[in-house]
Amino acid sequence: MVVLNPRLALDSPVAELPKVKPLDKQRLAALGIRTVRDLLLHMPFGWEEFGDPKPVSELMDGTLATVVGTILRIAPGITRLKRLKLTKATLADQADDELTLVWFNQPWVAKQLHKGDRVAVAGTVKAGRYREFEMRNPHHERLDGGSSNAPKYIGGLMPKYHVVKGLTSKKLAGWVDAALPLAPKLEDELPEDVRARHHLLPLAEAVRLGHKPDTQSEWSEARRRMGFAELFELQAAFALMRASIAAEPAAPIPYRQDVIDSFKAGLGFELTRAQKRSMWEAFQDMAKPTPMNRLLNGDVGSGKTAVAAACAAMAHAAGLQSVVMAPTELLARQHLHKFRGYLEESFPGLTVELLVSSQSTAERRRVLAAAASGHCALVVGTHSLIEENVQFADLGLAIVDEQHRFGTNQRELLRAKGSGRPHFLAMTATPIPRTLALARFGEMSVSIIDELPIGRTPVATEVVPPGERDRAHELVRNQVRQGRQAFVICPLIEESEKVVARSATAEFERLGKDVFPDLKLDLMHGRLKEKEEVMKRFVAGETQVLVATAVVEVGVDIPNATVMMIEGADRFGLAQLHQFRGRVGRGAAESHCLLLADDPSAASLERLKLVETISDGFRLAREDMERRGIGELMGSKQHGMSDAAMDALRKPLLLDEVRDEAQALLLSDPRLEAHPLLRDAVEARLEKISIS
Ligand code: ADP
Ligand code: MG
Repeated sequence: MVVLNPRLALDSPVAELPKVKPLDKQRLAALGIRTVRDLLLHMPFGWEEFGDPKPVSELMDGTLATVVGTILRIAPGITRLKRLKLTKATLADQADDELTLVWFNQPWVAKQLHKGDRVAVAGTVKAGRYREFEMRNPHHERLDGGSSNAPKYIGGLMPKYHVVKGLTSKKLAGWVDAALPLAPKLEDELPEDVRARHHLLPLAEAVRLGHKPDTQSEWSEARRRMGFAELFELQAAFALMRASIAAEPAAPIPYRQDVIDSFKAGLGFELTRAQKRSMWEAFQDMAKPTPMNRLLNGDVGSGKTAVAAACAAMAHAAGLQSVVMAPTELLARQHLHKFRGYLEESFPGLTVELLVSSQSTAERRRVLAAAASGHCALVVGTHSLIEENVQFADLGLAIVDEQHRFGTNQRELLRAKGSGRPHFLAMTATPIPRTLALARFGEMSVSIIDELPIGRTPVATEVVPPGERDRAHELVRNQVRQGRQAFVICPLIEESEKVVARSATAEFERLGKDVFPDLKLDLMHGRLKEKEEVMKRFVAGETQVLVATAVVEVGVDIPNATVMMIEGADRFGLAQLHQFRGRVGRGAAESHCLLLADDPSAASLERLKLVETISDGFRLAREDMERRGIGELMGSKQHGMSDAAMDALRKPLLLDEVRDEAQALLLSDPRLEAHPLLRDAVEARLEKISIS
């Protein structure tokens, strides 16, 4: 029995809990757990149901089970094939039926358990041909009391915690156990009436049931409460951000029909309904004396640039300048070209200039002067735009393309180029369902372009069975022979960028040697310094096949690329596969997307088949949300929400309710003076958002 240190408090460092070693402290810190409070708020993300202890005679192959018995034999050993260290033991239950236990790579188990020990084990049962049973890497617990004592930590419902290397869910559960007596001291940040309206558990109760539920439904209730509270804090934080932005003045840009008429007349096409709607939403925002803060979300090729250009034209008509920032020079140059095409002829006097780091000093000086004098209406560029010496005479509109590629800080620096606060338009080609956009980017209003211009040929998409990889390579070769280019995307490996880079390099070398020795290949990954040069060579057609990791540029137009071959496609989210696919099919020729799966199971293939049949990125994103959770959409690290919050989001309309609640509360108490706990929580969220 652990005796609780009487001085232990919620704010005590975790190291004051029993059995937290210095290394554990570091590992816990990596999970964001520094205090006892942090530990209590770190809830399990799932459970394993091992059930109550069972006699060996009642075990069933493939099921989870708990067995209590006595160790008959235990010895360390080595596996025959791979020479791995293992520990092998035999356990006998009350009826003397035997169960074999094997632990791989856990040599310490042989030191922890001894012949004659009474132990409980919990794991997956494997049955041999003669109903001899085995458990591999089971959880174990030594039982020290008499025959009646039941396992305390294992069996039943066992929590699954997010951990890092060196920690296990069982270790975490032990520490949580020691900390739980402090749970009643946790104060609730959620206002009482909000909790009552949504039937949410008090925090202390949710934490207790979250870690130690008797049933799955108790855990679900606890999790629902935690997820709600997190979304509530986030939405309150966003509401505060919106209020602070709205308190700043901006130069209104009045709507002018004649401007939009000239703009349309100069386009070689009809705007889609979604483009018109998005423009209209932006025009309404810009006409106000407070800054627009809008996210324009539309699939690759949906025509976001035209919407942005119309906004810049409107700003110009109001006597204000605009700026467009893109993440790479290549993209900035393509934008320059497009914006000039959309604007310069229709609006005499509207000049568009480029600012990137590779320019000559003279050229740069000329552009800087044009921006500072107000002579130039629109400057397109890269990070160079946020350097100190860049000044505008009167900046009214700031536009950021692929906004997720920039930090909040960089976006702020761009906005700071105005004399007041310019209107702000962020663009992203990652289709994000509306709910998720509001949950994650709730400080912005969202416009969605959910239709593509008519007349596009969809990319022919095919799931290629593992046995037919040669056929996929043949298709690549055929297209290259016709003068086209191809991408080969390497599988996503969970671990570090370093590992990914290494495996991409290996694939690049293998393809170059064994598969396409006659073709011109190039390699692209995140750790490469000369990413832009590689991309430039590909755009220029000097490379025929680009072997790349997931970093390969979004947004760059390469009309001559007609094949996108994706290895390990089952490891990517559907929306992400759709993103890759969007990198081909930009030209007139028919394009192909080939999906190869590492895991040829029916479920995995069925999921991939969706990409074959669905061409709408938003629909695929919603499928991802339903199937694999939102983390898959945003990259699990970046979304900044816990899985409890993401789970809560699956309930339709919940987010709208949370937003309304947060908005209402702030209306009655704009500084959260009556809710100091919530204020602290919201401030912590604001800080987190602003460094993301
Ligand atoms: P994205 O949303 O990916 O930035 P772009 O703005 O680059 O898309 O547009 C992709 C291509 O489609 C461009 O060549 C553009 O001129 C063209 N385009 C945009 N809107 C339309 C439309 N309504 N009808 C036909 N073509 C369009
Ligand atoms: Mg674009």
